[in-house]
Amino acid sequence: MAIKEYLLTPGPTWIPQRIFEAMARGTVHHRTDVFKRSFGEALEGVQWLFGATETPLLLACSGTGAMEAVLRNVTRGGESVVYVNAGIFGERWGKIASRLGLNGVPVHAPTAGESISAAALEETLHRTPECRALCLQVVETSTAVLHPVAELAAIARRVCPQALIIVDAISAAATLPCTLQALNADIVIGASQKAVMLPPGLAFVALAPRAWQSVEQGDARSLYFDFKIERKAHLERTSAWTPALHLILGFNEAVRILREEGLENTFARHERLSRLARTGLEALELRLLAPSCPAPGVTGAYPPDGVDADALRSSMVKKFGVRIAGGQGGLTGKIIRIGHMGYISEIDLLGAIAALEICLREAGAAARVGAGTAAVVEQMGR
Ligand code: PMP
Repeated sequence: MAIKEYLLTPGPTWIPQRIFEAMARGTVHHRTDVFKRSFGEALEGVQWLFGATETPLLLACSGTGAMEAVLRNVTRGGESVVYVNAGIFGERWGKIASRLGLNGVPVHAPTAGESISAAALEETLHRTPECRALCLQVVETSTAVLHPVAELAAIARRVCPQALIIVDAISAAATLPCTLQALNADIVIGASQKAVMLPPGLAFVALAPRAWQSVEQGDARSLYFDFKIERKAHLERTSAWTPALHLILGFNEAVRILREEGLENTFARHERLSRLARTGLEALELRLLAPSCPAPGVTGAYPPDGVDADALRSSMVKKFGVRIAGGQGGLTGKIIRIGHMGYISEIDLLGAIAALEICLREAGAAARVGAGTAAVVEQMGR
């Protein structure tokens, strides 16, 4: 018998059967009234999730595609953008900016596992008074850090009022409030393969009226990602190019599931999972990566001295079919990350902690078997 697999990575994530079934209804042609109804429903779902009053965009690409598309549409070559760099996804804003001929100005986190300081952001903005945008993440997935986005955005609004606040909520959407209003943002970006519980390939962009004005005045330097063309099509409940049809049908089912749970309950579940993950890891004597700013959907930790993070992860897969994530960038091979976003329950997380503690023992770590699971069980269901 093939071993049953448990996916606890911060994307792609586990997908509920209901969503697969919604996508398996067979191909509907996208230029039909039937599909237009589904497309319109999906646009309403994005508006609901991200608090958009204007038409949002549904793009057939991964999250990075949407990040690049946004910068293309609201900037012109030579302009400056300030970006928060607390890991590889923050760094990605800088890479995109440089490909587009923009002057990317980073604000670095002091160490891996921390957010940036408000004072460092303020100082950088003062040095870049003409800056066109502040780009950041809600959750820097590579370090499991939750940034205080609304507070950082408030600083930018005060120091550089013309700058658009562009927020990547890819690994945060549906784990905590990610509306334009809650994040104090002009643009919020999401992607399908995280807590939205879909396969990869669909991205969401919500734009406030001020951001749409920038799009209207700008030049996307792109055909596929020209938001003006796409908006015109979206207003007619269709897309300019062939849409990710099945993902859109799946998205409508995902929104139904989220509405049934109630977003506030979804957020509370993620908060609980995050607390349980920290409890279990600490009880196993692992040092948390981001203890002061933990994310609701992913938790990172350093294994004990002498334990190889990647070997530990492979033994969890081999022995128990439990797949968690490792480090990226400078943290490659140094950490483990447990994804607990989307279709994940407390029992799933308990299983991952059990697998971890047994594999830690086999790797020679001192922690007592049962310490992690006992600490988690003690807090479960509360
Ligand atoms: N930003 C964040 C915060 C992410 O977690 C990810 C994916 N892990 C991305 C951007 C990139 O998205 P994609 O892999 O879908 O291009």
